[in-house]
Amino acid sequence: MANQLQGIAASKGIAIAKAFVLEQPDMTVEKTSVEDPAAESERFRSAVGKAKEELEEIKAKTLEEQGEENAEIFAAHLLVLDDPELLKAVESKISDEKINAESALKDVTDMFVTMFQEMDNEYMQERAADIQDVSKRVMLHLLGVENTSLAGIKDTSIVIAEDLTPSDTAQLNRDYTLGFATDIGGRTSHSAIMARSLELPAVVGTKEVTAQVKTGDLLIIDGIEGAVFVNPDSAVVEEYEKKQEGFLQQKEKWKQVVNESSITTDNHQVELAANIGTPDDLEGVLNNGAEGIGLYRTEFLYMGRNELPSEDEQFEAYKKVLTEMENKPVVIRTLDIGGDKDLPYLDLPEELNPFLGFRAIRLCLEETDMFKTQLRALLRASAFGNLKIMFPMVATIEEFREAKAIFDEEWRNLKEEGHEIAEKIELGIMVEIPSTAVAADLFADEVDFFSIGTNDLIQYTLAADRMSEKVSHLYQPYHPAILRLVKQVIDAAHEKGKWVGMCGEMAGEETAVPILLGLGLDEFSMSATSILPARTQVRGLAYEDVQPLANEVLNKKTSSEVEQFIKEQGLLNV
Ligand code: PEP
Ligand code: MG
Repeated sequence: MANQLQGIAASKGIAIAKAFVLEQPDMTVEKTSVEDPAAESERFRSAVGKAKEELEEIKAKTLEEQGEENAEIFAAHLLVLDDPELLKAVESKISDEKINAESALKDVTDMFVTMFQEMDNEYMQERAADIQDVSKRVMLHLLGVENTSLAGIKDTSIVIAEDLTPSDTAQLNRDYTLGFATDIGGRTSHSAIMARSLELPAVVGTKEVTAQVKTGDLLIIDGIEGAVFVNPDSAVVEEYEKKQEGFLQQKEKWKQVVNESSITTDNHQVELAANIGTPDDLEGVLNNGAEGIGLYRTEFLYMGRNELPSEDEQFEAYKKVLTEMENKPVVIRTLDIGGDKDLPYLDLPEELNPFLGFRAIRLCLEETDMFKTQLRALLRASAFGNLKIMFPMVATIEEFREAKAIFDEEWRNLKEEGHEIAEKIELGIMVEIPSTAVAADLFADEVDFFSIGTNDLIQYTLAADRMSEKVSHLYQPYHPAILRLVKQVIDAAHEKGKWVGMCGEMAGEETAVPILLGLGLDEFSMSATSILPARTQVRGLAYEDVQPLANEVLNKKTSSEVEQFIKEQGLLNV
């Protein structure tokens, strides 16, 4: 019987194929006592060693086939296996309780996973998934069970699983795997991120796809709408074959604008830039025809290590990005740590509301040595391209002035030391706190540019945690309050002759593009894969048409009215 399931659209595209249901190996663990805990610990260490070797291999394969970003997931897994806290906890359990390694590992894993999951924070929940994935790998070695099920795919298939761990996703045979659907997971889970970079259609979080599907069932995965069809009739298959064809044609069409400018039919030009996390993302940025970098999140340089990165190390990373971008604008954001992004070696205070706490510029203005090191690295790198610097989470003008004063001081110091520095480095701020958006006209007197960070601006304006599934219905980019704030910021900047960008996820959304264009946004910064669809859209719009429409949208009362309106006006790509 045909059946339709709804999940979260994790990666765009349509796949039609037979299902391959991923069977979980039997991992039942029984607690037994051991006579020789030392030998048992040794058995555990040997399993860890084998898991490490495997991970090194997967990491190398992923690096070769999928690039640095996906390979980093396995570097993170290797770090878990190097974590003395975790390893010691297992070994202590073996020796204190004289129990077998399997049950010690299970107990310790469960404890860590529960701890991270209870943090009610998506980033930490992903760390829990990493620990589970790594622990499963060690457990398979302890149990002597082979995890061969993915290798069992011999025909073009859609993979169905309760969840796909990053290792599972990396091991998918790309010749045979056309897409996947899972019971759990969200848009930002690792498997979803990997699916997007592999351009594999995927639907996650269906809750029951493993219960509804058997290996061999015919499936359609609609990664655009988040739907899964089980044993659809021929009419539905035909409809989706057309949809698939349409999507593939559209992708080809998008590629045609890779070297074109982002200009409307009536010659209004904007800049479509990319958001990056590390210099390794540059390949995707250049392949997708970005006109600049609108947000380089430097915090990734500081994460996954045990100490602060040195000035030279940072200089090399910034220089690489500036050089490869060949004088195109590159906006580098100073450290935005805190909130959901922890740096264990900084010993940040535990706070009840970390998103409202000691983070980003607040932290940098106190840890000035750390801040100065970053600014010095940036100043030195400025000689190699078109650098602009922005400060995150600025709530008051004093914060901007203080940051600028430190910047000016380091400028003088470096000049005195004889370093070459660019003639002009624009200094801007993220507008992601409502106080700054409301007082944008005052800030506009002092900054060189604004970049609107809607990811945070939405959560603070609607008081809806961006990590919480429970209040996700309140996290509304098209709420009139957000659109009005965006307009206010753009107008305030333009009034003072300053430019405005947006680097929150909203900037690349199809519904947002015509609105933001009409409101006069100058720079749109988004994930690299959104650039070509956005450019295609911009090139099909007339500025004089979208201006009045954008103003009309400001008077809509609800987010869904706005979305409906933009669709009805025929302003979307499809
Ligand atoms: C934002 O808040 O919109 C933003 C771009 O920054 P981040 O997602 O890194 O908080
Ligand atoms: Mg932010």
